[in-house]
Amino acid sequence: MASTSQGQCRICETVVAKTQMTRHLKKCLGKTGSGNDQLLVLIQDRYVPSYWVYVLMDESTTLSQVDWMLRDLWLECCEHMSAFFSKSAAYLDEPEPSPWGRQERSMEVTLAEALLGEKELRYQYDFGSTTELTVRIVGDKLPGTGDEMRIVARNDAPDIACHACSKSATELVFENWNPIPYCEDCIPPADEETMMLPVINSPRMGVCAYTGPTREP
Ligand SMILES: [Zn+2]
Ligand SMILES: [Zn+2]
Ligand SMILES: [Zn+2]
Repeated sequence: MASTSQGQCRICETVVAKTQMTRHLKKCLGKTGSGNDQLLVLIQDRYVPSYWVYVLMDESTTLSQVDWMLRDLWLECCEHMSAFFSKSAAYLDEPEPSPWGRQERSMEVTLAEALLGEKELRYQYDFGSTTELTVRIVGDKLPGTGDEMRIVARNDAPDIACHACSKSATELVFENWNPIPYCEDCIPPADEETMMLPVINSPRMGVCAYTGPTREP
């Protein structure tokens, strides 16, 4: 799945493979932009790399702003806690003296500052049924678009095969707590107890009754 992941560049509307996207966006932005210097940031699911998004943002963007963007785009089911983690610090909404063995800090720092000397940050939404992402700066000093934060590319929805016939699935039907994908024709007869969730383009699909919808900045 990961090797075939692709998405559209929203600057020039070309469909580009994920493996080529960083290079493509830098080239494409170089030709068009005229605004301020901005950061190009890649955020992806830590375990399912076919969920990814490239965001162009001001250098002054804080972790708190990135947190809200991710909640709107991919995650918000019931206002769970979230945090960013570097090697030395945990960044939270309400930091406390550390029981975690690493320094707790506020999310009101810039992404660029939190990433100084780090390859990437980890991000967790919901400390129970956790969705875990990675956040990385893949380009800087890029000509901006004039928006504080703008999505410039995002994965096409992965094609998830129906368990019964291998057509594209539209629903997840929970069987013994396992989400099984089905197409409309193959959904098994369900009683009131059966939990079903839609197939959606989000790393939180099938978790905590999340159904989207997604809102982009
Ligand atoms: Zn392009
Ligand atoms: Zn929830
Ligand atoms: Zn089917």
